[in-house]
Amino acid sequence: MFIGGEWVVAVDGATREILNPANNQVIATVADGNEKDADRAIRAARQAFDEGPWPSMPAAERAKLLLKLADKIDAAGGGLAALETRNNGKPLREAKFDVADAANCFRYYAGLITKPLGQNYEVPDPAISAMVVREPIGVCGQIIPWNYPLLMAAWKLAPGLAAGNCCILKPAETTPLTAIKLFELIADAGFPTGAAQLLLGPGPTAGNALAASPLVDKVAFTGGTATGRKVMTAAAGNIKKVSLELGGKSPNIVFADADRDLALEYAMFGIFAGQGEVCSAGSRLLIERSIADQFLPRLAAACDKIVVGDGMNEKTEMGPLITRDHMRKVLGYIDAGKQEGAEVLCGGRRLSGPGLDAGNFVAPTVFVKTKPAMKIVQEEIFGPVLAVQLFDTEQDAIRLANDTVYGLAGGVFTRDTAKGLRVLKKLRAGITWLNTYHPTFNEAPWGGYKQSGIGRELGTFGLEAYMETKQININLAPTKLGWFANV
Ligand code: NDP
Repeated sequence: MFIGGEWVVAVDGATREILNPANNQVIATVADGNEKDADRAIRAARQAFDEGPWPSMPAAERAKLLLKLADKIDAAGGGLAALETRNNGKPLREAKFDVADAANCFRYYAGLITKPLGQNYEVPDPAISAMVVREPIGVCGQIIPWNYPLLMAAWKLAPGLAAGNCCILKPAETTPLTAIKLFELIADAGFPTGAAQLLLGPGPTAGNALAASPLVDKVAFTGGTATGRKVMTAAAGNIKKVSLELGGKSPNIVFADADRDLALEYAMFGIFAGQGEVCSAGSRLLIERSIADQFLPRLAAACDKIVVGDGMNEKTEMGPLITRDHMRKVLGYIDAGKQEGAEVLCGGRRLSGPGLDAGNFVAPTVFVKTKPAMKIVQEEIFGPVLAVQLFDTEQDAIRLANDTVYGLAGGVFTRDTAKGLRVLKKLRAGITWLNTYHPTFNEAPWGGYKQSGIGRELGTFGLEAYMETKQININLAPTKLGWFANV
């Protein structure tokens, strides 16, 4: 763990073995902290914020350090990507993309923090000069999941640090390795003591302590909706600022007039990229009924050909699920789909055979003949499981698309741009795409409607989420008020 500018072991000396999900072999042993370690990290961050140089350092100086870090991430690129694949399982080509994106996230916020912030405003009193300044919030606890370990660390640390906060990052206990490497680079870059701490340990202890502590001013969380609810509840004690990026059950809508080759590939990319362990996964495919008979057999044939295996193999197109437990959970959903009467179009089972038995591999799975109330249609499975729903009209598609508690993302495929825009505007979701799925930019806000979260990350919105807003009123003509007769 990296706390107060030093590498430390857990207070209780506990450690945890880290597994490679492709074969469940131990690849590292790391410190495993709890509430005591969280307390130590919180106090270090508190002291750094209240007494240290970071919050008041000129933005240009903070930006220099962030740019230095970005260059170091790029320089460590190949090694970082391989480490991510070995720890998380995702194919190497995806991990390489994440590393480049993480470096650019630090660059983006280094640039943004040096741009104009705040405003002057006219008030109806000529004696008052009024302005708004933006300030860091303080100590920020940042809890991230296992599906994008390095990228989620960047999404949290880059805006948090750029704004001048002192941060405590808690990675998922299963995937701390690229975060550890990132903090080696942070230490190397020369950030002031206490600007950023790395806290390792389980969510219910170390993570909950960050959410609950009265010394923490903000908690930023990415993960499942059920855990997000717990974080929000724990954060209520001192009315922390809370930002939550939670789950989804996002619709990918294919109209009959779509470019069907394009729609087919993106239907697959939408759900099978990252093994479906992606918050914005297009896990529901809504197809106009008139093309279903033509589209679905092609989809099944293409899904059966997806190369599943160890992400380190260059030919691999889809890797293993994160843990044995998570694989069991995903297989449980597949069973539930079958029991509720949906039909397996392809996949629907654990994969076995040489190179697969020891890992957590599930076949790319597509369900048809679903009903809107089924678990596989309503709940976030977070695995390679696609539920197909059929629709007849534009209104029908919109109604089905919005018919879950989530509202993270959504895609539409049509050659009729006006229709596409009409539908996107009706989606109750924060991230939408026309004739594409998944492109994500550091420049654009990321977050959800409904139970998919609160607040936005990335873009200018992502920086706002790490700043307080203060109004300053200056009396240019100080004269006695004359309110009280005897003063
Ligand atoms: P969680 O949402 O529980 O984990 C995300 C992060 O929160 C991890 O760092 C975890 O720590 C931490 N955490 C767990 N419990 C608490 C708590 N009480 N207080 C504070 N922090 C906590 O995801 P899971 O790994 O349990 O996955 C469960 C389901 O959540 C998945 O099946 C999937 O549906 C969904 N999920 C959604 C994600 C998204 O981006 N939308 C990302 C990950 C999961 P640790 O893991 O160390 O215990």
